[in-house]
Amino acid sequence: DADRVLVDLGNRSYDILIGDRLVDRAGKEIAERFPGARAAIVSDETVASLYLEQLRNSLASAGVDSAAIIMPPGEKTKSFEHLMTVVDEILAARLERRDIVIALGGGVIGDLTGFAAGVVRRGMHFVQIPTTLLAQVDSSVGGKTGINSARGKNLIGVFHQPALVLADTSVLDTLSAREFRAGYAETAKYGLIDQPEFFAWLEGNWKDVFAGGEARRRAIATSCRAKAAVVAADERESGARALLNLGHTFGHALEAAVGYDSSRLVHGEGVAIGMVLAHQFSVRLNLASVDDARRVEAHLADVGLPTRLSDIPGDLPPPDRLLEHIAQDKKVERGRLTFILTKGVGQSFVAKDVPASEVELFLKEKY
Ligand code: NAD
Ligand code: ZN
Repeated sequence: DADRVLVDLGNRSYDILIGDRLVDRAGKEIAERFPGARAAIVSDETVASLYLEQLRNSLASAGVDSAAIIMPPGEKTKSFEHLMTVVDEILAARLERRDIVIALGGGVIGDLTGFAAGVVRRGMHFVQIPTTLLAQVDSSVGGKTGINSARGKNLIGVFHQPALVLADTSVLDTLSAREFRAGYAETAKYGLIDQPEFFAWLEGNWKDVFAGGEARRRAIATSCRAKAAVVAADERESGARALLNLGHTFGHALEAAVGYDSSRLVHGEGVAIGMVLAHQFSVRLNLASVDDARRVEAHLADVGLPTRLSDIPGDLPPPDRLLEHIAQDKKVERGRLTFILTKGVGQSFVAKDVPASEVELFLKEKY
């Protein structure tokens, strides 16, 4: 009654389980895989108030002792200060290398906790229980962990793969509609990268995905399978993972342009606009058809995601500032940059020498 996706890294592998009420089964799944282990659970205040007791009960009934470490919610929690607190409390709970660290929360908690688990005692077992759609379809799989620096997002961290991922699809019922939609943008991304049939299925079934149940589970499992395949092919992100950045070059520039103000734009919303721009830019380069670009925009707009620059509340900085962000993000070489472009829905590819001047002209038209 849960889907199982295996992330096969060659010398080792781990399971992603996707299904209803997995928090209640977490104790059993963990006790089976780590006999005799104790656990430290890291969560944020919001998620802890909803699901911590449920998780601790489940662990306790499987004989797993647990300590809880609760952080404030929000991106600011991905800091050295909070990393220190988590590390210190893991040590204070006297956890040893055979014990486990559990992240119960969204991508913020997953990234922070994975980093802590990766460095305490040179690496402890790490279990992800992602509670946002974004974390279930993206950040909990792949082993990228880390915190932010004043000089930029996600600049400090380690690769540390989880030993198990439990994606409980029912906890998404309490997620805000806006956060759910933002995660949905990343789900649609997998269709747009190389699975046109999945994108078509989403076009027909997205309302059921939002409602929960079987369709939601299928969408999450399909996304996890796609991410797992990319991670298996490219664990340390040397090349193939680049396709996962579809929509992210424009998206990151937009996030930076609003000063990471989440009241104006959250990551998935930036990605939604970015994916539409990537399709439109591909049309401009005579790679994709206008119909395909319109189709992508229509679907994302249907689910309630922003798709245009003008959908972002407040004023945007001028196009050359956006271009500066893109150049910083991508390291322009001799006026050329790497970009994820597309020949149409589900036909994305990595383009290595896109002229920065083309991007600039395109952005100026979009303003
Ligand atoms: P988040 O962790 O901040 O969660 C969003 C909000 O939802 C928070 O306020 C949280 O308290 C709340 N919440 C979480 N689960 C809930 C639930 N079930 N019910 C009610 N409220 C709930 O944000 P996110 O979007 O999950 O993650 C964003 C982070 O993920 C960013 O820091 C980003 O850099 C990171 N990320 C990492 C990777 C990776 O590969 N490691 C990939 C993508 C994104
Ligand atoms: Zn993303």
